[in-house]
Amino acid sequence: MAEILDGKQFAASLREPLAQRAAALTARGCRPGLAVIRVGDDPASEIYVRNKARMCQRLGLFSIELHLPAETSEERLFEEIDRLNQDERIHGILVQLPLPPHLDESAVAERIAPRKDVDGFGSCNLGMLLKGQSGILPCTPKGILRLLQSAGVALSGKRAVVVGRSLIVGKPTALLLMRENATVTVCHSRTENLREHTLQADLLVSAVGRPELIDGSYIKEGAVVIDVGINRTERGLLGDVHFESAAQKASLITPVPGGVGPMTIIMLMENTIEAAELAAFK
Ligand code: NDP
Repeated sequence: MAEILDGKQFAASLREPLAQRAAALTARGCRPGLAVIRVGDDPASEIYVRNKARMCQRLGLFSIELHLPAETSEERLFEEIDRLNQDERIHGILVQLPLPPHLDESAVAERIAPRKDVDGFGSCNLGMLLKGQSGILPCTPKGILRLLQSAGVALSGKRAVVVGRSLIVGKPTALLLMRENATVTVCHSRTENLREHTLQADLLVSAVGRPELIDGSYIKEGAVVIDVGINRTERGLLGDVHFESAAQKASLITPVPGGVGPMTIIMLMENTIEAAELAAFK
């Protein structure tokens, strides 16, 4: 039976040291500041944004939320981003996804100044990750890596399989694991015989968005399983992994909720504090 890799608990242990870094910056007159822009009324986004604001408050960060109507034009959104790019109180800018369909998420990510791109979704920060340089890392992949490191999971030379190839989770996670010298396979919706791949994995990361797609029959005995999926269903919040059967095979497994989610938000705080440190010590 697998041990639980408790992201909630680990993320909580990172709060105090981050609050201290934030307080040290504030004492120097550079209180870390995060601006979150929400466009439209997606109910899940509202919850995510509220949680981010609460965490800012808890750690002593300055935060503002800009809520724009769903019909906001790209021009108007860019004006707001440009203003925040210039605002010295703000060290991190995040545009909550998904955006209404008339807005191009990729163009929006490019508009944010790279030094304030605390989601790490712009070409500059993603390019640095690709080149193995230290830019701002996307929060979820960074959180996954930190969680694995906290549990002492060996990655070098191990077979990692990442299911999902999105720009915000799958691809950057694969790059980070490669940086840690894992041998990485990336699977996606066109992958044939998914199970053949996942059964090879010492580390399996699922970032798909299909409830319980991965059951125990996809998992190698003793594997480490990271479930990124957040799926709202009639049975409540479910991951991509069928927890009960997977836990029979895995050695270590993240729950949903309480696994990767809390790591994502704490990494956002860390990225904002790091951006403020760079601004303060430049
Ligand atoms: P996307 O929809 O952008 O990407 C999903 C990926 O899964 C795609 O690459 C897609 O393949 C692949 N895929 C879809 N169906 C299958 C299948 N049947 N078999 C194999 N691969 C498949 O999602 P995101 O990356 O943004 O998010 C993934 C999940 O993670 C979601 O549930 C999301 O809510 C959650 N999430 C959780 C976070 C957290 O903090 N815990 C943070 C961010 C996301 P293709 O490319 O071919 O279409």
